[in-house]
Amino acid sequence: MSDQLTKELVLRAPAKLNIYLQVGALRSDGYHDITTVYQAINLHDEVHISSSHSNQGITITISGSEASDDVPTDERNLAVKAVKLLASFVGRTNHCVEIHLVKNIPSQAGLGGGSADAAAVLVGCNELWNLALSSKELMTLGARLGEDVPFHIHGMMAIGVGHREPLTDALAAPSSGDSIPRSHIWHWVLGIPFAGGLSTKEVFGKLDELACGRNPADYTAAQIKCLATTWASEPPSGAEIAKNLYNDLEAPAVALLPVIGECLKAGLAAGALASLMTGSGSTCAFLAMDGGHAERLNVELKATGLFRRVIVTAGPVEGVSIVRQE
Ligand code: ATP
Repeated sequence: MSDQLTKELVLRAPAKLNIYLQVGALRSDGYHDITTVYQAINLHDEVHISSSHSNQGITITISGSEASDDVPTDERNLAVKAVKLLASFVGRTNHCVEIHLVKNIPSQAGLGGGSADAAAVLVGCNELWNLALSSKELMTLGARLGEDVPFHIHGMMAIGVGHREPLTDALAAPSSGDSIPRSHIWHWVLGIPFAGGLSTKEVFGKLDELACGRNPADYTAAQIKCLATTWASEPPSGAEIAKNLYNDLEAPAVALLPVIGECLKAGLAAGALASLMTGSGSTCAFLAMDGGHAERLNVELKATGLFRRVIVTAGPVEGVSIVRQE
């Protein structure tokens, strides 16, 4: 099939929160198994992909409020790796594309910005090259790029178990295609500490060094069950949700960057239902009762001076989507 029909695609790549994250023992390959519950939120990078006829290979440019020196503009960028992986998977020799990332998702923040971009590139190139791979195939491929890539394709809420394995369980919306009932929307305020980002490797390293107490397995099952019933006709209350949010990586992240502990406390002092670090940090997520409460927390948290950026957001939202196609 020809891929000349579509010239440019614009995709929306949502960030994720780990609303639950438990780390298993260190494996012989140096990685840890994890058990996590993801939620996609309405904070997005915008990913532009177009066919390039200049034979310059893959080019990548970056703009946006979160463009920074942290985000590589060469083959180290996960978006570039995603193009190469998909091309080699389908045996395509011409993979000249131009990618432009409008970064809104802070990087090294535990929000999965790089994985979101990679997920968007897999979905985008599948369309641009008329490959007709299913979402499931793209998710399986995405897992080779990074733990979180399959979830960014899937979106909404899902459970991930193991290391770079397919999502165990997708927590489907009440009836697919309908918009999510207001009662099922979670309102969040995110605080990005001034102190900077944390590398995932460093945080896992600290976890092993501290050998800190991890969440016992039986407790895990009960917590996940509560978070997973969020789609029931009577979703759990904010207070119930708050009790079950959890992250094993919080303690090592606080040990590396004590200001994260201060940030988490500041959220509770401001009246958040819960404070939780997402992924390997350093973003702190504060659960609000509703949109109005989130706005009030936003004002209070900005006034603490602890955060370089405070963001009001909500979830769950769908995964990567194509917003324009020319
Ligand atoms: P993770 O939890 O997956 O380690 P994160 O959510 O904390 O990641 P990312 O925004 O994915 O943070 O950035 C982690 C690192 O990945 C950055 O420091 C950067 O060097 C690298 N990176 C590669 N590609 C990208 C991209 N497209 N956007 C942002 N960072 C990228």
